[in-house]
Amino acid sequence: MEKIKMVTPIVEMDGDEMARILWGMIKDELIHPYVELKSEYFDLGLENRNATDDQVTADAANATKKYGVAVKCATITPNASRMKEYNLKKMWKSPNGTIRAILDGTVFRTPVIVKGIEPYVRSWKKPITIARHAYGDVYKNVEMVIPGPGKAELIFTGEDGTELREEVFEFQGPGVLQGMHNLDKSIESFAKSCFNYALDIGQDLWFAAKDTISKKYDHTFKDIFEKVFNEQYKDKFEKAGITYFYTLIDDAVARVMKSEGGFIWACKNYDGDVMSDMVSSAFGSLAMMTSVLVSPDGNYEYEAAHGTVQRHYYKHLKGEKTSTNSVATIFAWTGALRKRGELDGLEALQLFADRLEQAVIRTIESGKMTGDLARITSLEQVQELDSAGFIKAVRDTYESLL
Ligand code: NAP
Ligand code: MG
Repeated sequence: MEKIKMVTPIVEMDGDEMARILWGMIKDELIHPYVELKSEYFDLGLENRNATDDQVTADAANATKKYGVAVKCATITPNASRMKEYNLKKMWKSPNGTIRAILDGTVFRTPVIVKGIEPYVRSWKKPITIARHAYGDVYKNVEMVIPGPGKAELIFTGEDGTELREEVFEFQGPGVLQGMHNLDKSIESFAKSCFNYALDIGQDLWFAAKDTISKKYDHTFKDIFEKVFNEQYKDKFEKAGITYFYTLIDDAVARVMKSEGGFIWACKNYDGDVMSDMVSSAFGSLAMMTSVLVSPDGNYEYEAAHGTVQRHYYKHLKGEKTSTNSVATIFAWTGALRKRGELDGLEALQLFADRLEQAVIRTIESGKMTGDLARITSLEQVQELDSAGFIKAVRDTYESLL
C-alpha cells in the first residue's frame, strides 16, 4: 500500500523518559508504516534543552507559529533533584510554560472515552473538554498577613497621576489580605481561543464566573466574552448550529454534573485548576486525557496531559517490562495529523487519524489494554499488555480496519 503523503510539515517536539520511549514506538509502529511523515524535529529532551541553553524550546514554539501545527511529547520540568540527576547548568523553566508564553494559547483537555472504562458520573456519555485561562488572578496575587488593627486600601496610580482609591477593610484585629489582577487583552485572547476551538470541534461553549458577587472583576470577564462573541462569533456559531452559554460558576457545576457531556467548559484560572482535576479523575484515567494548546491566531500544539511517567522509565532502564498507556500520546499524534490534513485539504491524512483513533478504541473495547486500565475496567475478558504489546495490538486492529 502506498504511504500517505503530506504537504506541510508538522512540528515534532520529542521529550523525556517513558513518554520518549512510547514516542519512538508510536512512530515506528503506527505512523511511519502508513504516512510519509514530514516533520520539523526538535529534541526537547532535558539533555538537549540543557545543551542548547533551552533555545530549542523557543525554536520549537516559533516553528509552531510558522507552520501552525505541532505535536509534543511529555517533558521533565526540572526541580532540585533533576538538577543533580541531569547535571543541569540551570533550573530550566517548564517547556509548556515557555511554549504557552510564545504562542499565547489556551489549553483544552479532553478525555478519550471507551466502553469498559466508565466515568464515575453516571450521566456522562460524551467527553467534557475543559479550557483553563492560564493568566493572572490568584496565581499572580500579592498577599499580606495583617498583624493587627488598621485600614487596608486598594490604590491605583495612573501614569498621568490620576488616582483610584477604594477601602478594602477596616481591620479591628489580625487577618489576611490579598490583591490580584487580570488583563483585558489576556481575557480577550482566552475568549477567542475558546470560541475558535468550539467552532473547530463543533461543540457548545460554556463559560462561568461569579459576576453577581464580583461586580467588576468577574463581570469584566463576562462582558469581554459577550462582546467578543457578539462582534465576531455570533453568526459563525449560528451557522455551525452551536451555542455560547454563560452562567454562574455554581450553577455551571450543578449543570455539568447532570449533563451528558459533549461541550467545552471554559474556566477562569482557579476554577480550571480545580475543575480539570475533578473532571479528569471522574472520567477514569490521566493516561486517557489529551490536551491541545490553541492560540488566538489559530496555532495548535497537541500533547498528552500526563507527564513523563518517571517510575515506569526507571523500571524500563532496569530491563523490566512496563505497561505504560500510550493512548493520550497516540491521540496527540492523530490530533496533529488530522489538523494538518484539514489545513492542507488532505483527506487521506484525516481519514488515517480517524481510523487510528478507532483502532485504539476498538483494541481496548476488545479487552486488550495496559495495566492502568486493566485495574479499573468493567470488562470481564481482559488481556493486560505491556507497553510495546499494546501498540502492536493497535497496529493489528488498524490493519483489520483497512
Ligand atoms: P506522570 O508522569 O503523569 O505520572 C504519575 C503517575 O501516574 C505514574 O507514576 C503512573 O502511576 C500514572 N501514569 C501517568 N501517565 C501514565 C501512563 N501513560 N500510563 C500508565 N500510568 C500513567 O507524573 P510524574 O511521574 O509526577 O512526573 C514525571 C515528570 O513529568 C516530572 O518531571 C514532571 O515535570 C513531568 N510532567 C510533564 C508534563 C508535560 O510535559 N505536559 C505534565 C506533567 C508532568 P503508577 O506509578 O501508579 O503506575
Ligand atoms: Mg492543579
